[in-house]
Amino acid sequence: MSKVVIIGAGTFGLSTAKCIHTTRPSTQLSVVSSPSKLAPTDDYSKVVRIDYTSPERMEEAIATSMAWDMEFPHYQRHIGRVVRYERPYADTFDEINATRKKLGLLPRENCTSKYEENFGNRAVTQNSEPVLYTYNSDDKMIIWGSLIDEARETAKNACTTSGGQFYEDAVVSLIHNHERITEIRLESGISIDAATSEVILAPGPWFMQILEASSIALPPSDRAPVATGLFSFDLEVNDTKALELRDIPMLSDIGHADFLPPVNEQHNVCKVTWTETFTNFGSGSLSIIEDLSDSPLAKYHLIKTIKWIRKVAPVLKGAKVIAIRSYWDGVTRTQDPLITRHPGINNLTCAAGGSFNRAKGFPDQGVVILATVEGEPTARYGWNVEKTGNQHDQPTLVAKGDFITMNEQANLHIQEVMGGYAHKSIHELLRDNPDDVCII
Ligand SMILES: Cc1cc2nc3c(=O)[nH]c(=O)nc-3n(C[C@H](O)[C@H](O)[C@H](O)COP(=O)(O)OP(=O)(O)OC[C@H]3O[C@@H](n4cnc5c(N)ncnc54)[C@H](O)[C@@H]3O)c2cc1C
Repeated sequence: MSKVVIIGAGTFGLSTAKCIHTTRPSTQLSVVSSPSKLAPTDDYSKVVRIDYTSPERMEEAIATSMAWDMEFPHYQRHIGRVVRYERPYADTFDEINATRKKLGLLPRENCTSKYEENFGNRAVTQNSEPVLYTYNSDDKMIIWGSLIDEARETAKNACTTSGGQFYEDAVVSLIHNHERITEIRLESGISIDAATSEVILAPGPWFMQILEASSIALPPSDRAPVATGLFSFDLEVNDTKALELRDIPMLSDIGHADFLPPVNEQHNVCKVTWTETFTNFGSGSLSIIEDLSDSPLAKYHLIKTIKWIRKVAPVLKGAKVIAIRSYWDGVTRTQDPLITRHPGINNLTCAAGGSFNRAKGFPDQGVVILATVEGEPTARYGWNVEKTGNQHDQPTLVAKGDFITMNEQANLHIQEVMGGYAHKSIHELLRDNPDDVCII
């Protein structure tokens, strides 16, 4: 493998660049990437979580967690995670424990006190049945923004020292002769000769779009990374509150939201992700990636998020919403990534489909991608995969609907939930900071 071009400097592309640089130093490496604020890699904090219902994914997460300890101890914060399961999701808790037992791990325990002591609430009950709370001491937070900045610098140096190039540019299409990619066309007009290169296509949720623009066969529908969106909110707190929040655990309320505290002492911002996901098919066959953060749906989800925080995490009282982000990930039906050689184009390897759980793979994802390029693929990540009983490990992160329908419904309700603020844009709301809309 003398020449490689990686398209996309996100989690998958950067992890692969790191692996090629360290294990194949004689390979000429080039990377093409146009970072986007809609890409999940361009975020500032992430969770490495170790709870899955499938034994393979649980074992994979344990190995990955050890790789973080070995390679990036300074980017991790061992604050653990409280997980809240309302009744419809309590089965997931039991399934995770069944898998833990199978793997010889101690079961997760119901641990209401950890929630109560950190989130300023008595444990909420529903229909007089207790909601389940666990504390996963082994889940960790990653100081992600700094890690990615460093990884992009390393990738740039790797390109230069290997004789390749780092292009801050967007790929418009891949030109091919039905057997090989011969040329990569960039937005700036540059054309990269790829006839003798291996091409690794890792553009996250834009994967399908690039294949379609290049008239290259798309994966079968159950392996296609479908662009799936959600909204995430930045909450600013004062110095005293930031100090109080910095060491509390993360909180996941399954089916609703995730809370991550500030990443370090320079940071007064915490993140709440509202996990009501959507596709955006418009009139075509591909889910379209757009910045939807000024839509009625974004406002509606903002209101739901604030209500959720007030009910479930009153410790955030006083926090102010300062940004709304529209993020997208490619989600496959099995929620396993698509990492495989393209069956029709010989020098093309596909690496996409993070499915809301692959930031954690950063230390070792590239090893799997490189092995695939070199002829040792992982069967579960293939182009065609036999269906197993366990298709979804995070069923709540499969799209809840299509943006257009959800947005229309939100539009109907927005007046009722936002009153006089309903007609304001998100930009105006964030500028004016009305107490009942932007302050917890
Ligand atoms: C809100 C949110 C929170 C998440 N939190 C977690 C978490 O806590 N833990 C976890 O394990 N996982 C998490 N995930 C999932 C994880 O972040 C993603 O699965 C992973 O980052 C995907 O990486 P990627 O490289 O496939 O894609 P991306 O992050 O999308 O990176 C692809 C890169 O390619 C670039 N690109 C796209 N098109 C082109 C083009 N035409 N030309 C050149 N470059 C292009 C993009 O701009 C981007 O920089 C989360 C996902 C989301 C959306």
